[in-house]
Amino acid sequence: MKTVIIAGGKGTRIASSFSEIPKAMIPVEGKPVIQRQVEMAASYGFKDFIFLTGHLGDVIRDYFKDGSSLGVNITYCQEKEPLGTAGALRQARELLTEDFFVFYGDTVMDVDMEHMLRFHRENRSDATLFVHPNDHPYDSDIVETDSSHRITAFRLKPHEEGFISRNQVNASLFILSPKVVDEIPEAVRLNLEKDIFPSCLDKGMRFFGYPSAEYIKDMGTPERYAEVCADVRSGRVAALNRRNLRPAVFLDRDGVINVEKGFLSREEDMELIEGAAGGIARINASGWLAIVVTNQPVIARGDCSWEELGRINARMETLLGQEHAFVNDIYICPHHPDKGFPGERPEYKIVCDCRKPAPGMLLKAAGDWGIDLSRSIMIGDHDRDVMAGENAGVMASVKIPSNEPYALSKVLEEYL
Ligand SMILES: [Zn+2]
Repeated sequence: MKTVIIAGGKGTRIASSFSEIPKAMIPVEGKPVIQRQVEMAASYGFKDFIFLTGHLGDVIRDYFKDGSSLGVNITYCQEKEPLGTAGALRQARELLTEDFFVFYGDTVMDVDMEHMLRFHRENRSDATLFVHPNDHPYDSDIVETDSSHRITAFRLKPHEEGFISRNQVNASLFILSPKVVDEIPEAVRLNLEKDIFPSCLDKGMRFFGYPSAEYIKDMGTPERYAEVCADVRSGRVAALNRRNLRPAVFLDRDGVINVEKGFLSREEDMELIEGAAGGIARINASGWLAIVVTNQPVIARGDCSWEELGRINARMETLLGQEHAFVNDIYICPHHPDKGFPGERPEYKIVCDCRKPAPGMLLKAAGDWGIDLSRSIMIGDHDRDVMAGENAGVMASVKIPSNEPYALSKVLEEYL
């Protein structure tokens, strides 16, 4: 399987001292960023590369030559004029006979490529996009997915006032089928994410978002460049690879993140507790995962559809995003065991293994995200939350007072 690295960008925006080398050659802790990418892919056995070069492409070619000094094979495609990410990829069409990875040459990352490829194959995906939440969703391009991670829409910025959405953005790491490249017109300057992906989606191609909490960041500005260098130095980049189990903070929703007002079934009733976003931002900064586990018997009762519940959660993510905080995932138990009420949905009126105090949601999250439960904590405002944490075997399971400002932050101070 080949890896295509789009390496045409100039280095000028990052620092004037790098203006004579391409962005991909800018050193991060003594090594060109693109070399870090090559070594990452090679460590998973992906040793065939196509470098799409542009401005100052000969600097890259002179450095890597055919790749043999790194034990890999490199083919070059040099663009004569800037063609954008899509146009550059179109030039390599003949070399692409099967699905391939795409990297942007100015990205610092450490990603379990094998895990991502497995996801791509299991979904029989035409295009798999690495997605994650970020701390400024309000001015980011949003990727919308359904419950099976299939992409349903791209919501490109700028967003209208009052825009509500899940916090999920694409991080410029893809696995693509050559079918996608066939959609790119020749010799036109176009952008993959803005011009090509949306039209592929309109044609019914199978696009999936691969959710991950691994480190991936472009170094597009001097500030970001300084950040990625510090993160490589401290070991943070490598530590967040999916192969390393991570601790999580499991959070109940109502009464812990948002104000509990009986059974919440209307979007406008989603209101954050003061200080909750700050607490969650602290989890984000710590490298722990923030995972919501919530009993929502409103589904079983028929008070709320999945769509309505989705909008309520999107509003929560939007409000958190406005305060630069995010959750990595939301697990929902829609069930309730007591039957015999008007309007209820009998298919959800069952005894399940996910309704807290059962540990089902925590155990599922642990498998999905590679969580070390023995280093994780559960925070809720009911005894059933504490019991769910204990039943899952977390390190600490803590009850906080419902709806109390800053209660979440206080607990987190003890553990993070
Ligand atoms: Zn359940």
